[in-house]
Amino acid sequence: MDKAYTRRIARLQSQIRKQRLDSLLVTSPYDWYYLTGFTGEAGVLLVEPQGYTLITDGRFTVQAKEEAPGLKVELQRQGLYRACGELLKRRKRRRAGFDARQLTVAHMGSLKKAAGRAVGLRDAGGMVQSLRAVKDVAELAAMRKAAALADQVVQAAVRLLKPGVRELEVAAEIEYRMRKGGASGPAFESIVAFGDRAALPHARPTAKRLKKGQLVVLDLGAILNRYCSDITRTVFVGKAPTKVRLWYQAVLEAQAAAIEAVAAGRTCGDVDAAARGVLAAHRLDQYFVHSTGHGLGLEVHEDPRVAKGQKTLLASGNVVTIEPGVYVPGVGGIRIEDDVAVHQSGNEVLTRASREFIEL
Ligand code: ZN
Ligand code: ZN
Repeated sequence: MDKAYTRRIARLQSQIRKQRLDSLLVTSPYDWYYLTGFTGEAGVLLVEPQGYTLITDGRFTVQAKEEAPGLKVELQRQGLYRACGELLKRRKRRRAGFDARQLTVAHMGSLKKAAGRAVGLRDAGGMVQSLRAVKDVAELAAMRKAAALADQVVQAAVRLLKPGVRELEVAAEIEYRMRKGGASGPAFESIVAFGDRAALPHARPTAKRLKKGQLVVLDLGAILNRYCSDITRTVFVGKAPTKVRLWYQAVLEAQAAAIEAVAAGRTCGDVDAAARGVLAAHRLDQYFVHSTGHGLGLEVHEDPRVAKGQKTLLASGNVVTIEPGVYVPGVGGIRIEDDVAVHQSGNEVLTRASREFIEL
């Protein structure tokens, strides 16, 4: 197996020992990909202080051997969690960790039944996610490329904004261009919101046509070599009223203040407060209805969360989005979002498309 994977597994094993567990059930495909390179969708990776085993079914055994040479694979025939429980029982694992946010009640039932009373199951959620929050050099390189693709696509999408075009057409073009650029797909359903629909932070594209005098919010991201990007730009079709220009400048200023606050050793809450403080000074904080950002990596939303009061300290290798916005019901919304990597000293904005106010 690739050295990066063995290093990650070793880090997890030392965490497992620290938590006084004798095994950990890794049940998220993102987590086991991060640890082994296996890209199958079904399985459980059982990590123990001295080794690790993938339990999966016949559809994935060949794939697992190809993608993760050397990985021990156990074939399950009568249910994944039953097989997993039986393995824990056979190996006399007394303290097995799992992630309560991932296992369903039904999974838990089969697991307990097969494992028997001697196996103690306890919630140890978030262990792999906290490792994933700190990106290594190769991951950062992948994320730069995913960000560059998002830059290209958002700029191309802006050029399609002519009166009469439909939200859905622009969304389709966005996805087409991402895939043409090498993406395996969009990181989330692209947001193309015209006019008052732009006041909904999570608007779904509709058949609505663009008119002059409207704000447009474009929020998109690509998955390239398994890593996600996430960018938002807001443009105005026509000449914007003074009020809209002022809102835009306030959001831009809030974003710059938050980006400035992104540094190793600062809390996520500080970053959120930086954005919120600027909007409050413009009396716009009541219209900022979501948190400032989120971690980004193999998944589009991961640790750390950049939200009000979050005590988590930023560390070198974290990648977060910074995306303040204002949403005025009935009028429209403005959001500017970029992806920022934390370095030992300072930070690096991965997305580079211009943030200046665009009037088409
Ligand atoms: Zn976004
Ligand atoms: Zn985002």
